[in-house]
Amino acid sequence: MDFPTLLLQLENQLQCLHKKGVNYLNIEAMPKVELRKLVKGLEGIVVSQTIVADEQHVDLFSFSEQTKSAANTQHENTNPSVFTSSTGITNFQERKSLARQQTVTEAFSQIIPQQEKEIASLSELAEKYKSCQRCALSKTRTNLVFGSGLSHSTLMFIGEGPGADEDAQGEPFVGRAGRLLTKMVNTIGIDRADVYITNIVKCRPPGNRNPTPAEISCCLPIIKQQIELLNPKLIVTLGNVPTKTLIPDLPGITKVHGRIMQYEKWTMLPTFHPSYLLRNRAAMPLAWDDFKIIPELAFHS
Ligand code: URA
Repeated sequence: MDFPTLLLQLENQLQCLHKKGVNYLNIEAMPKVELRKLVKGLEGIVVSQTIVADEQHVDLFSFSEQTKSAANTQHENTNPSVFTSSTGITNFQERKSLARQQTVTEAFSQIIPQQEKEIASLSELAEKYKSCQRCALSKTRTNLVFGSGLSHSTLMFIGEGPGADEDAQGEPFVGRAGRLLTKMVNTIGIDRADVYITNIVKCRPPGNRNPTPAEISCCLPIIKQQIELLNPKLIVTLGNVPTKTLIPDLPGITKVHGRIMQYEKWTMLPTFHPSYLLRNRAAMPLAWDDFKIIPELAFHS
């Protein structure tokens, strides 16, 4: 959901409360966590636990714990309250009865945008997303699997998403498919420690199902930043999911594997996913042909 839609939703919610008799709602009294989510443009905004205790005499609100400190409304009719700013809106004094109702759009236009800290390394990026809850996969994961390997490698492998072993260990490609990938990398004369390996989605889809388009789009900013930060000479996409996530209009992997292509400013080589190779041994010679061209593209060109 985009930011203007979120604002609109929130504005509707406020209007709804207004109809119920809440004639003043102070932006500082909004649950801080929700407010922060909104500011960052995240989904799922809910004005939680806002209860109008007395619809006729609207002088008592019940807020969640996190909001109580900001929402000191007890004697607001008689005493002006000063609310500490948590959002960039300067502290203010107002009498509830005199306050003109502010639209959310107006209120947010007063927020001084927080300068996003520029992410300069993969480890900073990992830190930023270590508690990511952008999609429902965060609820079932054991570990978020960000990626591993050499942070200045010229060769990047991108898989689909963590499986059970990766979820348990927090590392990509450590299960059966991972062991095959390591063997193949070693066979072309490369040490696994010299490459960077990650996945399109960072949390395990339950039951090893394919990630949904919604889950992929939640994770897309992360993989894009990983590519930017690593800036590899070669990206090897393993299977359909990473290949078509980066270049959506391509035909399937059986048609495009081994074809050197361009993803934005990077060279990309799609090949088979090791799990597919474990199930379809006949594809192995084709995968070898793809792998053979990796060293030249990643280390010499
Ligand atoms: N399959 C993937 O796509 N990624 C992993 O990390 C493991 C298995």
